[in-house]
Amino acid sequence: MLIILLGPPGAGKGTQAESIVKDYSLVYISTGDILRAAVKEDKELGRKAKHYMDQGSLVPDELVVEIVKDRLKDPDCQNGALFDGFPRTVEQAKFLDEALPEIGSMVDGVLLIEVDEDELIERLTGRRVCSKCNAVYHLKFNPPEVRNVCDQCGGDLYQRDDDSIETVKERLEVYKKQTGPLISFYKDKNVLYPVDGNEDISSVYKKIKAVLDKL
Ligand code: ADP
Ligand code: ADP
Ligand code: ZN
Repeated sequence: MLIILLGPPGAGKGTQAESIVKDYSLVYISTGDILRAAVKEDKELGRKAKHYMDQGSLVPDELVVEIVKDRLKDPDCQNGALFDGFPRTVEQAKFLDEALPEIGSMVDGVLLIEVDEDELIERLTGRRVCSKCNAVYHLKFNPPEVRNVCDQCGGDLYQRDDDSIETVKERLEVYKKQTGPLISFYKDKNVLYPVDGNEDISSVYKKIKAVLDKL
C-alpha cells in the first residue's frame, strides 16, 4: 500500500503518521525529516537545501526527487510506504507517477488533512520535535510527560527554526500556491480522500483509519 499525506504545514501529518505506520506496517518517508538530518550532519544535500528551508521556500524539485529516488531503491519500500511532505509540487507528483511502476507500486490513496489557518499557526508556533527520534509534540495540545523530554526515547525536544511566526506565514503561502494544485491533480485520479483535521489527534486518527481500512 502506498499512501500520501497531503495538507498544509501544521495539519498534523507527522503526528498522524506515527500511528499509521504502526498500525499498517508502512515505511515512513518524510522528505522534511531527511532534509533536516542532512542539514544537521552538514552533508552536501543539507548545504544546498538549508537556505530554502530557513526562508520557508520549497527546496528545488531536482534535489527532492533525488532523495526519493534513492529511498525507493531500499528493499524495505517493497511492502509499501507512507509519504509525508512529498510530493509538494505537480512536478514531483509526475516524477512519482513515473517512478512507481518500476517498483511495482501505485498511489493507493492521498489523505488530504484540512485545518483552518488560525489553528495551523497556533499548532506550528507551539510545536516541539524530538532531536533523536523526530516524534512530534505541542506545548499545549500534546505535551510530553516530562517538560522538553521525549516520551518515546528520552531525547531532548527542540523548536524548529522554521516554526517562527514569520516563516510559518510564508510556508502557508507557499503551500497554497505550489502545493495546492496537487489537490485537483489527485482528485482527477480518484485517489483523494479529504479528512477534517480540526478535531483532536485521536478523532482525526479515527477518520483516517476509516479511510485506510476501505482501501
Ligand atoms: P505537519 O507534519 O502536518 O506539519 P505536525 O504533525 O507536526 O504537522 O503537527 C503540527 C503541530 O500540531 C504539532 O505540535 C502537533 O503536536 C500538533 N497537532 C497535530 N495534530 C493535532 C490536533 N489534531 N490537534 C491539536 N494539535 C495537533
Ligand atoms: P511541514 O511541517 O511544513 O509539513 P516539512 O518538515 O515537511 O514541514 O518540510 C520542511 C521544509 O523542508 C519545507 O518548508 C521545505 O523547505 C523542505 N521540504 C520538505 N519536503 C519538501 C518537498 N517535497 N519539496 C520541496 N521542499 C521540501
Ligand atoms: Zn524521541
